[in-house]
Amino acid sequence: MKDKKDLFIGSLLGGAIGDALGYTIEFMTLNEIKSKFGRNGITDLEIDRTAKKALISDDTQMTLFTADGIIWAYLRCSERGIGSYAGSGTYQSYLRWYYTQTGRMPTDSDEFWLELQPHEEKAGILNYKELFSQRAPGNSCLTALESGRMGTIDEPINNSKGCGGVMRVAPVGLFLNREPEYSFRVAAEIAAITHGHPTGYLAAGALATIIAELVNGKDIIESTISAMNILKKYKDYEETLYAIEQSIKLAESNENAEQAIKKLGEGWVAEEALAVALYCALKNTDIKKALIMSVNHDGDSDSTGAICGNILGATYGISALPKEWIENIELKDLLIIMSTKLYDLSEHAFN
Ligand SMILES: [Mg+2]
Repeated sequence: MKDKKDLFIGSLLGGAIGDALGYTIEFMTLNEIKSKFGRNGITDLEIDRTAKKALISDDTQMTLFTADGIIWAYLRCSERGIGSYAGSGTYQSYLRWYYTQTGRMPTDSDEFWLELQPHEEKAGILNYKELFSQRAPGNSCLTALESGRMGTIDEPINNSKGCGGVMRVAPVGLFLNREPEYSFRVAAEIAAITHGHPTGYLAAGALATIIAELVNGKDIIESTISAMNILKKYKDYEETLYAIEQSIKLAESNENAEQAIKKLGEGWVAEEALAVALYCALKNTDIKKALIMSVNHDGDSDSTGAICGNILGATYGISALPKEWIENIELKDLLIIMSTKLYDLSEHAFN
């Protein structure tokens, strides 16, 4: 039996490493990547000269705000007995994220959310200056939050199915791992705060369930099948299901990885990002090889890398991640603090 805490930390650190590996080449085609880094593409973290760390991007920043948000919501709701993970903490934490990126709060939003809240100890998440750096934040996220209205599944905020909903929900699967079906629902609601297209939030639901099942000891295929079964209960599930099925089919085939990834898409949209990440996780048992494969393509490298890292970290744990990559990752300490908090609270809450 794997150590659960190890899987929690592994999932967030793995996601951050995949994100950082891909961030350097986010907007490059595979040909451009190869002409800069050689025919194997990028194979190591790029260390930023000023920070002396490998920089994470908006994917990891928002994942940390999701973790902050669900801890916040859990404690508020358990105190008051009402509320939801999306509306009673995560939305507020995303307003904080909006503030870090723009220097102001959205129209009609309460500045009170920027203050240290009861769920935070001495140093809250806003004490980390790295979270205030702009690392190519997603437009759907910024625009949706700017409106001052919280998107929901019933009242979509837009028709976006960008990957900004799915790339940030791993903490939901971790925290609610004992209830894979509920984790699907909560992650979909949290993604729907900013992404109103069904595929935009259903892919997020699927990822959360995969993460939850992995933490419970299922393998990647079993976890994915569980997610697919839950997915089918939702309206407009077809596009997400098709992408996941293609991913499994290609991983089981002898198709060359470069070609297979091309067929799955570039990952700018939610179902493609999940499919590419899943394909690379299924194709490799070595995390390093999987992450390298997951970022070297024409598309949204940091998001496919982040999701692949979330999945593999939850499968094999922190000990399977390359040590030098862990040491070099920006915000390593905060990632460990937040995943440990999620673990402690989740064990306490649901045991
Ligand atoms: Mg990014």
